[in-house]
Amino acid sequence: MRTLLFDIDGTLLTAHGGGRRAMLRTLREEFGLEDPEMVGSFHGRTDMGLMAQMLEMNGLEPTEQRRRRFRVGYAERFPGELQRSGGEVFVGVAELLKALAPARSCRLASMTGNLPETATRKLEHFHLRHYIQWIVGGDLDAQRNDLASRTLDTIRRRHGDDACRDVVVIGDTVADIVCARHIGASVVAVCTGGETYEELSAAGPDAIWHDFSDHQGVADCLLGDL
Ligand SMILES: [Mg+2]
Repeated sequence: MRTLLFDIDGTLLTAHGGGRRAMLRTLREEFGLEDPEMVGSFHGRTDMGLMAQMLEMNGLEPTEQRRRRFRVGYAERFPGELQRSGGEVFVGVAELLKALAPARSCRLASMTGNLPETATRKLEHFHLRHYIQWIVGGDLDAQRNDLASRTLDTIRRRHGDDACRDVVVIGDTVADIVCARHIGASVVAVCTGGETYEELSAAGPDAIWHDFSDHQGVADCLLGDL
């Protein structure tokens, strides 16, 4: 059975900056920084990597205690910011997941740079959580390739060695494509996250879509030969 690993931000949905604002508030309110330095682009990054980098950028050593405080503070503030920003599910996504969910030849899971708790919150907010069997999030790995390796371990543990031979990553960044190759997975790219068709094409995905509006075509692609 094939495992489809969906990225979340930029692939399935956008929180319209809710995550960034929750991190900014956490830096202000938990660490007393009036005008904190922020990482410019969150694309393709893990939350653990982002939080450690932002602590360092603001002159704070990213000790385990500070990282835990950042994580807890961020997860507390995120739901309110998501409510405020609204966010949106991209065109065709709900239909795509609905079409794939009953297929006996695949299972749906998520590999995301989000913390597992905020990933769950986002998917629940947009009524997508029930399609996704399990989530591996970016709470333990600063690098996406390490996240992918840990996800492959999860596949092996949950579904056995054979399952590791048929994995497809679906993502919106070059980092998604690179980490898929790192674990020997196929990869389908989508241009809804800000990186361009040209940028993503150059990284050599097996297939690339401008968006998921042709949800049946995308479903056929994800279940077909890649
Ligand atoms: Mg993404």
